[in-house]
Parts: sequence; C-alpha cells; structure tokens
Amino acid sequence: MALKLITERIPTFAPPVDNVYGTLTEITRKTILSKTANRIIAFVQVHAKTVGLLLCEPSAVLSDQPNYYPPSQWKALGEEGAVLADRFSGGLAVVNLKNPLNLDGESMPIGITLAHELGHAVQYLSKPDWYELMWSVVVRSHQKPDPALNSDADKADYDACFAKKSKWSNSPTDNEASERAKLRIENENVQVHERAVCKELQLPWRDTYYDKGKR
Ligand SMILES: [Zn+2]
Repeated sequence: MALKLITERIPTFAPPVDNVYGTLTEITRKTILSKTANRIIAFVQVHAKTVGLLLCEPSAVLSDQPNYYPPSQWKALGEEGAVLADRFSGGLAVVNLKNPLNLDGESMPIGITLAHELGHAVQYLSKPDWYELMWSVVVRSHQKPDPALNSDADKADYDACFAKKSKWSNSPTDNEASERAKLRIENENVQVHERAVCKELQLPWRDTYYDKGKR
C-alpha cells in the first residue's frame, strides 16, 4: 500500500490529528459513492511510490493549509528532508480538517479536499517530470530543472510558462510564470479529478481553480 497516513510530527508541518485512521475512515465514508474518488485513492494505493497523507487542524505557526508537495519540496529541509524523501517518494498531501472547500456558498465535505490533494498526487505519479517542472516554476526554484519531458503537450506547457521570461529568474516580482504554472496544475486537477467527484456526489462544482462554484 503506497498511501501512508502520517501519525507523527513532520518538520515544518502541523501535527497530525490523534485518531488518523478513524478520521480517514469517516472522511472516505462520505465520498464512497464517488467512482472517481475511489479511483484516485486506488491509484495512489497500488503505486510503487509512497504518498504521505497528513490530516491536520489549524496551527498558528506551522504549515497546515491543504496542499500537495512533490518530493523535490523535501530538499529544502536538508538532512531531515532526505529521510522524508525516502519515506514519501510520491510526495505529501496535506488536508486541513477545519478548512473545507467552499463552492457556491456551501461548505464541501472534507473528502472533496482529500480527493483534490490526492488528485495532485495522481498528477505527480503519472507525469513526475512535468509536475516537478511546473512546481519549480510555482515556487520559483533557484535551479532550472532539466527533466526529460514526456510529450509534445508537456513541451507546450513549458513554453507557455516561460513565454514571458527572457531567462530563468528567481525575482519575486516575476509572478506571471508562477501563476501560470500553478493554474496549469490546478485547472487540470479540478477538471480531471475534483469536478467529477463533486458531480458524482451531486455537490456544487467548479470548472477552474478560481471558479466560485456552480450547480
Ligand atoms: Zn490544488
């Protein structure tokens, strides 16, 4: 099984809730009727790489926001990061139980956030080079990655991301490429994973990341 529930503190992240197994059971019970949610979870579970899943609550000083971090993120953590990179070779999904997605004025079940963040894990596991490239643009990594891009479509994404940049830079004012790369990841995830789950559960859905929701 390659979905590993995190039961101990991880550096820089909020601590996991006490009853992680019972909490995950409760979350998935409410999304069990979604074929897509089940497919997402099964895809991660049978994959050779291990995805860490952190179920947490708000923390004033530590990272607690719903997000997915591909393995390159660990490098910033130094030695501890190397251990984490080994343990969670498929990255880390963070689900904050007190911060549900709101669509069309309605709070979504936390299972939608779970499906969304694990949807990112599926994106990463399916095309790791593409994901790491996009992520490096999102976080404005110092180092330009040199991945073996998988397809012409990926190369087009790459070109689109850098169309406005004369060269690789880490300038904090150079937001456009970062935002573009973020939306490339997010919109694909929303359209391929999250939207399908919402519709299968007869909940409001969004078509793009910044869509406020519709039904
Ligand atoms: Zn996302």
